[in-house]
Amino acid sequence: MNPNKLYFPLVTRSKITKEQRTNQYSNPYIKSGYRYKYNFRQSLFSILRLHNETINIWSHLVCFFLAIAFYIKEFANNTSVLSLSFTDKLIFSIYLFGCLMCFANSTILHLFDCGSLELSKLLLKLDFTGISTMILSSFLPPLYFVFNKNDLLRNSYMIVILVLVLLLIFFTWFQQSFFVNTRWARTLFYSVVVASGLIPTFHALFVVPSPLCWVLFAYIMSMFVSYLLGVICYAFYIPERWIRWDKLDYYFHSHQWWHFFVATAAYIHFKMILKSIDYYLYSQI
Ligand SMILES: [Zn+2]
Repeated sequence: MNPNKLYFPLVTRSKITKEQRTNQYSNPYIKSGYRYKYNFRQSLFSILRLHNETINIWSHLVCFFLAIAFYIKEFANNTSVLSLSFTDKLIFSIYLFGCLMCFANSTILHLFDCGSLELSKLLLKLDFTGISTMILSSFLPPLYFVFNKNDLLRNSYMIVILVLVLLLIFFTWFQQSFFVNTRWARTLFYSVVVASGLIPTFHALFVVPSPLCWVLFAYIMSMFVSYLLGVICYAFYIPERWIRWDKLDYYFHSHQWWHFFVATAAYIHFKMILKSIDYYLYSQI
């Protein structure tokens, strides 16, 4: 199979029908560089071509492998991680699983979201399921490590976030017309679920002794700020709503900033989980 024999036409937004203007076609400020009605082979090999989704594909594909590399590094060198029990290591690895689900589903969405409308809807649901899994996997390890002295609290927080994330997944698959197709609704729902993490965060200030509690707090707040910046870029199409520059269709548009801030937040959260492991081991003495 020679990808050079394939044809990769790019169209402007005006060529895309109104009903198809969902997902990657929904941004009214991206005017050109669209792949449209590609078959499987065209979509797959378009990973090697420049279009308005190239950076979105590669950014999360690179993050997928970076997440694995970061975990391998910790399992190889970090004495705190190495001293954990098998169960504790599994809990620590839940976050890796969530990250991989999120980055993989996002990469697949951005790569193949240029075929039929049905495929596009399915990929979007998978993408949201990946994001929901990442949210759940972000909550579980720090709750487990920080609230290790109080089973009731720890289990209560874990059950609440599990129910919230299951609701997100339920809405994604069974309330599509409202949840998946209504941009403001899903952005709001996801933001509320993520922001609910502030409650155990402030609670942790009373559980973890100083100065470590402030280190954890600083990490979590930095993570939230990164997510918030990403959500603002994503929700309000920043910067392309303000700047009309042809190259923005390909480089530095809002969705790329969203990916950047999500990846940054994911890395900060990873560092925070490592700190929570230090506290966990310290509290076991
Ligand atoms: Zn994306």
